[in-house]
Amino acid sequence: MTIRAANNRTSGVRTFYIASESRPGVQYVAQFIRRARQRRWFCDCPDFKFRRLAQRRHCKHLHEMTAMAREAHGVARLARSISANVAA
Ligand SMILES: [Zn+2]
Repeated sequence: MTIRAANNRTSGVRTFYIASESRPGVQYVAQFIRRARQRRWFCDCPDFKFRRLAQRRHCKHLHEMTAMAREAHGVARLARSISANVAA
């Protein structure tokens, strides 16, 4: 999965761009929203919208993002490590 971290940093929001594997040229926007009382991931792929309505589960992009965030010990650290990889 090809993932880029957005450069602009809105407070409480981390944005990532994920290239679609099934649809060349298409990229999805995954966002981690941190507010006072909630921390949630969103993805703008069709699967996420469908799943959210049907059973409130994550799409494959967010499964990957949450696994990577766990490995990186946090979303902010993950964003920094992705940015560093892109810059290198
Ligand atoms: Zn998705």
